[in-house]
Amino acid sequence: MRRLILLGAPGAGKGTQAQMLEQELGIPQISTGDILRGAIKAGTTLGQKAKGYMDRGDYVPDAVVIGLVRERLQQADTTEGWNLDGFPRTPGQAEALDTLLQQLHQHIEGVVLIDVPEPVLVERMTGRRICPLCKRVFHLSFNPPPPVPPYCTDHSDCPGELIQRPDDSIEVVPNRLAKYRQQTEPLVDYYAAQGKLHIVNGNRTPDEVYAALLTLLLAEQPPEHKTEHN
Ligand code: AMP
Repeated sequence: MRRLILLGAPGAGKGTQAQMLEQELGIPQISTGDILRGAIKAGTTLGQKAKGYMDRGDYVPDAVVIGLVRERLQQADTTEGWNLDGFPRTPGQAEALDTLLQQLHQHIEGVVLIDVPEPVLVERMTGRRICPLCKRVFHLSFNPPPPVPPYCTDHSDCPGELIQRPDDSIEVVPNRLAKYRQQTEPLVDYYAAQGKLHIVNGNRTPDEVYAALLTLLLAEQPPEHKTEHN
């Protein structure tokens, strides 16, 4: 499958897996979070509008993100596949996506829930550090960046200086998890009812999760509700 949605709580590893899928299989990652952070950095009207919501850990209004995805899915690099990372996040977004894909004569081939226990999510988010230039993701304990100065040069010759996302702070993380439970978790049932849901255990290393994901993507059987045990 080459048209898929990665579902999961913040910190579940959706972005990491989406980057791996893009690098290894050439499936374009469409991350609404990255698009919004890019808009903030560029100082656009969209960015100014989104920043307050994001810094508090609230969701950006549906109409805004739906518009972004509508635009992105009409760009040429997505005609053969896409991997939605962080969208849809609400039932309204999921319904808008179904409508948009009908118009584009495309369909979702599978939805993968990356399942991670909540205490692990908190530890992952608060320890996360990112490179604002190349988007590489580190973790202070699990994937430590190069020693002082904290540049990501060791890995990519990138002079980026690592930062903590404002919404990864311990003050904001509980609100993000609450928003996920209230607004996004219902999508698990939504896609299970469509027979599109797969569940992958995300509480292990990125390589192990990726291997499980690959097995799912390459599986030929129809996408029923499958659980991957490990
Ligand atoms: P992420 O990088 O996916 O963790 O997203 C970071 C933040 O961007 C979220 O906490 C929201 O404030 C905003 N955001 C990203 N995607 C969406 C979406 N699909 N709907 C609403 N807000 C979003």
